[in-house]
Amino acid sequence: MPAHAAATRALRRKLGARVVLTDDPALTEASYDSAKIPFRPEAVVRVTEEAQVGVVLVLANRHGVPVTTRGRGTTLTGAATPVRGGWVLDLLGLNAIAVDDEAGMAHVGAGAKVGDLQRAVEARGWFYPPDPSSKEYCTIGGNIACNAGGMHGGKYGVTRDFVVALRGFLPTGEFVQWGTATKKFSAGFNLRDLWIGSEGMLGVVTGAVLKLIPRPAERWTLLTSFKDETAALQAALALFRSRVQPAICEFLDRESVLCAERATGRVVFPGQSGRPVILLELAGSKAELREQRAAVLAWAGDYATAHRAARTRDEAEQLWAVRRKCSGAMFELGDAKLNEDIVVPMKNYVQFARFLARLKRESGLHIPTFGHLADGNLHVNIMYHKAVPAECRTAERTVQTLMETVVALGGAISGEHGIGLAKTPFLRLQHSPAQVRAMQAVKRALDPRGVLNPGKMFERFEVWKHPRLEVKLPWDHK
Ligand SMILES: Cc1cc2nc3c(=O)[nH]c(=O)nc-3n(C[C@H](O)[C@H](O)[C@H](O)COP(=O)(O)OP(=O)(O)OC[C@H]3O[C@@H](n4cnc5c(N)ncnc54)[C@H](O)[C@@H]3O)c2cc1C
Repeated sequence: MPAHAAATRALRRKLGARVVLTDDPALTEASYDSAKIPFRPEAVVRVTEEAQVGVVLVLANRHGVPVTTRGRGTTLTGAATPVRGGWVLDLLGLNAIAVDDEAGMAHVGAGAKVGDLQRAVEARGWFYPPDPSSKEYCTIGGNIACNAGGMHGGKYGVTRDFVVALRGFLPTGEFVQWGTATKKFSAGFNLRDLWIGSEGMLGVVTGAVLKLIPRPAERWTLLTSFKDETAALQAALALFRSRVQPAICEFLDRESVLCAERATGRVVFPGQSGRPVILLELAGSKAELREQRAAVLAWAGDYATAHRAARTRDEAEQLWAVRRKCSGAMFELGDAKLNEDIVVPMKNYVQFARFLARLKRESGLHIPTFGHLADGNLHVNIMYHKAVPAECRTAERTVQTLMETVVALGGAISGEHGIGLAKTPFLRLQHSPAQVRAMQAVKRALDPRGVLNPGKMFERFEVWKHPRLEVKLPWDHK
């Protein structure tokens, strides 16, 4: 008998059987996210109107039912997994998008997909830069809850930098609006920013007003290779010192390049197989690009062992293949991946490169690493075979060493994915006891009955002890 059967019946009486689902396919689909660690909910509530969110939360508080908000379930940390059962609140139905051309803002439902928003605004000459690789699937609500980033982060910023105002519900079910659709707002505590990155634990976002910027007129792509990782990172620092701000600056280490080369069947630069690369994209007006292009080509001549510029969009796509193919191809190196999205301060890039080389050597594992050099957010992929216990134990120890080192270097254990379940063992490396207590006090103040996304962030969860589902999701290996 489900623990909250009476509450679920009451909810269904209020919202109807089309909104409150208890059939097996719906419960199975909502039982896991991209971390693939399943916990079964008792009902999935597919809201079609904003007010229904309030009804769900009021009843959840009355009956003590855990509620997990869900966008598209692309989180890699288990943040959208209903680890305590209860109800999953599915917001995909709230997906309206409206553009205000005078204000340069978009009014967006939490369930709208990021890719749909980008196309809608670009058609009108605007640009919404936050661009997680999962953008064709993930939602604006999920991006706000995780403060999602992407390749454009270094030049333009992350989701937080584009949120003007939010609307939604407190965990108690009361409707709130943080800010208005204005460029200035200085009235009261800024709880908008408290919600951003709160991983669905402090409220439910139902809609957002987002800042837009004019769409850059031109883009230009350049692929460069370097003799080793240290040389590549030192070259990137020289580029940033020269005040050039690339829209995209993606780094791939030797192992990542080799993965991409195997997947495409093509060597990136003939005669230089497996050399680390930096993929650059400039964006701006014709005049801005003319000036920056000359500076970047001079830089490439000074630092790179080879470089190739795209003359057309098709050629740019070909240069991009190395970046797009590397992640999926890593599964040749192991059938399990711990994808850690750490951040390293730029001044410690070279130190980190040396540490990573040592970690690879000492662990004996493949650890292909790529990432966003203009903001220090690197994806360190620890590959292992899940049927080999010794490799699993080594992978576990390797993540611990990685996280300790990242914090010691003044970095962050996550730059864009968040904590969820997967990073809970490391939260206290990043935050002191006083900082964790302050976060918990905020959680208790806003969610006194602890109904919203319980079991996450603060409670240690050891992902490696939980079997993962063998399912293929539409966005796997993208
Ligand atoms: C292939 C792949 C590539 C990825 N690339 C990137 C990347 O480049 N950059 C990046 O930042 N991330 C990336 N991610 C991670 C993921 O896509 C992001 O974290 C994304 O923001 C999750 O959005 P979602 O709609 O799927 O949210 P979900 O996974 O459904 O939920 C994530 C968290 O947000 C909460 N939440 C969702 N909607 C709301 C809401 N409306 N109100 C309150 N809380 C809510 C959930 O409770 C949960 O805690 C990638 C994931 C995959 C699978």
